[in-house]
Formats: sequence, structure tokens, C-alpha cells
Amino acid sequence: MAAQRPEFHKVDKVFASHLHTDHVGDAAALWVGGWLSGRYTPLHIFGPSGSSPELGTAAFVDGLKKAYAWDISGRAGILPDDGGKLVAHEFDFKQIGGVVYEKNGVKITSFPAVHVLDGSVSYRLDWNGLSFVFGGDSAPNKWFIEQSRGADFVVHELFYTPEGLAQVLGWGARQATFVSSYIHTPPSGFGKIMAAVEPRLAVGYHTIRQPELDMMMIEEIREVYDGPLVIADDLMAWHISKDSIVQREVVSSERVQAPPTTDGYRRAKRSGEATYSDFTASGKWKGYQPPPLPPAEPGAAPAGD
Ligand SMILES: [Zn+2]
Ligand SMILES: [Zn+2]
Repeated sequence: MAAQRPEFHKVDKVFASHLHTDHVGDAAALWVGGWLSGRYTPLHIFGPSGSSPELGTAAFVDGLKKAYAWDISGRAGILPDDGGKLVAHEFDFKQIGGVVYEKNGVKITSFPAVHVLDGSVSYRLDWNGLSFVFGGDSAPNKWFIEQSRGADFVVHELFYTPEGLAQVLGWGARQATFVSSYIHTPPSGFGKIMAAVEPRLAVGYHTIRQPELDMMMIEEIREVYDGPLVIADDLMAWHISKDSIVQREVVSSERVQAPPTTDGYRRAKRSGEATYSDFTASGKWKGYQPPPLPPAEPGAAPAGD
């Protein structure tokens, strides 16, 4: 995401399908990185409840705040106050088509997935007569098929075949079969789902792309599904309209800076002051003098307010 240099003040909402590290492990990087790079309003994290409060999204967000207390405290007075705020929006993982978000003609609904524990979900976004479904990690489930019917663009996890997984990770046959086919969806299941849903484009994700595994997956899918198909790779992008779906691959540098911040960012209120003890202050070397501090931005609240 950072490589695409988005306007970070507009990247202020995250919709988590579930709380596995491969899905939310970068939440803190987006929270603090986005704040450093132009976001001056809170970051909103939408996500499901779990089978008990401590397994839900609100507890996850609360835990992040606790884990990064040192980081966040140290930015007081330097970065805009509100950009450091995290807001959890936890909803019932059991809702089937319930509204998670609705604004400016965009409606996002959720429905449950079947993945290890209670509390994995999928999302459907409807806007301007177009629809996009994003499947959270799941074994093939009936809700996905019901809620995806008629959608334009449908993304579902596509896991390895049991043989592929055993080969890649050196797992035994039982573990590989359980993980690929009972808590995830192997290619044969993915193909059956897409054959039932019949989207304008079926996209599989959640695999590390390797040519020999791609072939294994495609062969299995094609036994049961012959519609439009893409196995997603990082930084693929799609432009979807009523007439066409155009696929592109983002080309970006490995080394990128965030885009310039805005006036809103520079003027946003900053308060408090990160400080250290007299002990740490006594370690400043007298042989170095920093340059004088320039005045605060016009309109900005001075640090310390
Ligand atoms: Zn996953
Ligand atoms: Zn998962």
C-alpha cells in the first residue's frame, strides 16, 4: 500500500475479515505509518466479534493500543492528536448481510465464514450498481454462495492442494489435508464455489505464487469451473465498470517515500509533549547544538496546549 503512495489522510478505514496475523499483522504499521504520512484523523478498524469478548476486534484494537503505548506517547505534541487514535467498530460475526458501513452510496455488509474459530467473516461492497465480494478465510460455506450471487467481482481464498502444501512446507499428509481442505478452501472447492456463483471475474488469493503450484491449482479448478479466473498476486489492480473489468499490475519502486502531506495535516491540533527524565536529559552531549526551532504552522495549536 505504501508503495502506491496513497493520500494517507483518505486511508482511514480497515475492514478485517478475521484476526489472524497474516490478515491484521500490519495494523500497527498502517496506524502509525499512516499517521506519520498524512492522516490526521482516527484510523477506524471494522471487524467481527468472536465467541467471547476477548476474542473480538475491539479487544484486538485495545491490545494494540496497550502494546504500542510507548510509541504513541512519544509522538505527543509532534504529530496531530487525532491521527494517533484508533477506533474499533466491532459487529456480530453471525450477521448475514447486516450493514457494517454505509456512507456516500457505499454499502458494506458482512456474513460469516467457517475458519478455525467463530469470528471470520466475508464482506460485500455495493456501490453505484456494482458489487464486490471479499471472502475471509474459510472452508467452502453456504453464506458465501448465497451472498455472492450476481456479484460483479468476487474474491475468495484459494489454498494449496493437500499435495502442494505437503510438498511446499514438508508437512505430513494428515496436517496438509486438514489445513488445506477443512479450515481453508483447496482449488477443487474454490472451483465449485465459483461455478455456483458465476461472477464476471473470479479471483483466488492467499497463495504464494509458484509456477508449479499454479498449474496444480488451475488443473483442479478447471475440472469444475470454466469461467473467467485470476490467481491474485500482490499489487494487482482492477478497474471495474458495467462494461468491462481491466486488470493491471502496479509497478512501483522498492524504495518509496510517502506522498506530501496536506494543509489539513500541517495545521491539525497537536497537544501534549513527549518528555524524558532529568536523567536522560543529562545525557545530551554539550558538543552538539540543534538548530533553533521554526515557529508552528499558521493555524496550528502550539505544542503544549
Ligand atoms: Zn489467512
Ligand atoms: Zn486465517
